[in-house]
Amino acid sequence: MSAPDHVVRLPDADATRAWGRALAGLLRAGDLVVLSGDLGAGKTTLTQGLGAGLHVRGQVASPTFVIAREHPPLARPDGTRGPALVHVDAYRLGSFDEVEALDLDASLEEAVTVVEWGEGWVEPLAEDRLEVRLERPHGGLGADDDVQDAAAGERVLTVHAVGERWRGVALPGAPATTEED
Ligand code: ADP
Ligand code: MG
Repeated sequence: MSAPDHVVRLPDADATRAWGRALAGLLRAGDLVVLSGDLGAGKTTLTQGLGAGLHVRGQVASPTFVIAREHPPLARPDGTRGPALVHVDAYRLGSFDEVEALDLDASLEEAVTVVEWGEGWVEPLAEDRLEVRLERPHGGLGADDDVQDAAAGERVLTVHAVGERWRGVALPGAPATTEED
């Protein structure tokens, strides 16, 4: 049994980051977020928002060439620290054993783990997880499209929350928009 999918429209990259920040407020150590969507859909952009919301060290960037990056928590103004962020890009990864073999300082139980391209193999490893899909409702890059136009614009995010952990948890809606356009 799982809740119905949660759908949010994100008009621009800032909205995607803001939604990530809002989601971070719900996350705790041991949580797993699986991000799917085409190249350029906004998975890393969303993870940047998570990093900001979790208040972790370092710039969240595409970890394509390192497989995983760990961002330790910084002290908040009140002196507390949240969980670390482990950001995995599974594009080239064969199995989750390879993630465990990365010898990260924080164990996955102590961190919030975000996996880009984890769809299809990471699911059996965690009974509780958020499966987040990012899509461009107006399609990807066509032969006649301007690259800039294709990179800009609305994304539709769909969250499929799986497991007891997420039962009854209200996920963030669309972030408040700024006054521009
Ligand atoms: P992925 O990690 O899925 O390959 P990235 O987050 O690296 O994607 O890239 C997404 C690109 O699209 C960024 O350049 C970002 O600024 C841009 N973008 C434009 N609109 C949006 C939006 N609504 N949400 C996310 N990214 C957007
Ligand atoms: Mg990425």
